[in-house]
Amino acid sequence: MKLEKYSFGMGDRFLHQGVAQLQAIVNAKKAGIDITPVWNKSNREHEIVGTEPVSLRKEANDAVNKLDWQSSYHVDADHITLATVDRFVDCSDFFTLDVGDAIGEAASDEDIAAFVGRHGKYIGNMHIPGAGTFEVTKATLEGVAKTFLKAVQTAGVIYRHIVEQRGADFIPEVSMDETENPQTPLEMFFILAAIADEGIPAQTIAPKFTGRFNKGVDYVGDVEQFEKEFNDDLAAIAFAITEFGLPENLKLSIHSGSDKFSIYRPIRDALRRTGAGVHIKTAGTTWLEELIGLAEAGGDGLVIAKEVYAKSLEHMDALCAPYATVIDIDADQLPTAETVNSWTGEEYARALRHNQADPLYNLHLRQLLHVGYKVAAQMGDRYYSALREFESDVARNVTENLWERHIKTLFMD
Ligand SMILES: [Zn+2]
Repeated sequence: MKLEKYSFGMGDRFLHQGVAQLQAIVNAKKAGIDITPVWNKSNREHEIVGTEPVSLRKEANDAVNKLDWQSSYHVDADHITLATVDRFVDCSDFFTLDVGDAIGEAASDEDIAAFVGRHGKYIGNMHIPGAGTFEVTKATLEGVAKTFLKAVQTAGVIYRHIVEQRGADFIPEVSMDETENPQTPLEMFFILAAIADEGIPAQTIAPKFTGRFNKGVDYVGDVEQFEKEFNDDLAAIAFAITEFGLPENLKLSIHSGSDKFSIYRPIRDALRRTGAGVHIKTAGTTWLEELIGLAEAGGDGLVIAKEVYAKSLEHMDALCAPYATVIDIDADQLPTAETVNSWTGEEYARALRHNQADPLYNLHLRQLLHVGYKVAAQMGDRYYSALREFESDVARNVTENLWERHIKTLFMD
């Protein structure tokens, strides 16, 4: 099973927008851009919403049937670990092996020495075509091994555990994005060496990039610095493929936290220049479009959207806790529940919709609602029946968001 050059990961917390999401990919195909849709949902999301992994497979299959999608598509067990993978094994064909927690854990001294010995030929000035020359010392190799070897070994354990149960016909991704420090392109090269040593035929790798990837809002950081790192990462991957015999289609996976519009153009330009592929993962952006659609629909839809905000505000600390490292909310910039309750549907939609040119757009409100999906989950049937009742308003926003703001910016002129 081979992941194509461009693929787009779409999260859908409440499992009702598969068709509207796929429609954006269909629009791209009609415009001449082939993108493989991937539906992703993490164990954390399943637990918060109260869904089983198999429900995502069903959603993907149903969407594909409904729109008669003839090309490939995948279902991603996002950020799974050895402890959480089992209930994903049968229904997923893309596994994101999360080893963030093992970064910095010590591998054995023998394993570290063996790694340094195996890759000793790179000590000296190492040229990575397209990125430049890097000085590699024994300490460089030891440093990478000490920080990342145990994490890669952990990925190997999860990988083999999946293979034992279902064979090797799936797409493995190794993710290191949920950790403190970004990885440099040189570290990435040697992490890929360790991945190859471990026998993981990784097709995508998700590093942590420089800058802040807060949930649902734009990139915060130095775009030029990001651009340089991204370019060097592409070069390091291309070099690692030839040096270590990794799969030819190995590519970066960008866990975007959704909506990193200011780095989309640098990414697009780098892909065009190098011919590299990419996997972009988004998650909560679709849930926020549901709220926008409900608000625009008015009536009970708007009532629910307002209630979600009021309850999210009330339970802000608890909702934010699991996402503490990937949100930056300034509570002083949040409107009160009374204020939001006085808004029209249009005002609500404009405050939430990710249009930075709109003076009503509020990125603090957007981040809070991003993590507020638990509130909607607790509404249960009331929320699901609103999604059905106001389906056309919601679907219009879901498709337009992915197509107009994400896919066009990433892949088109
Ligand atoms: Zn991630």
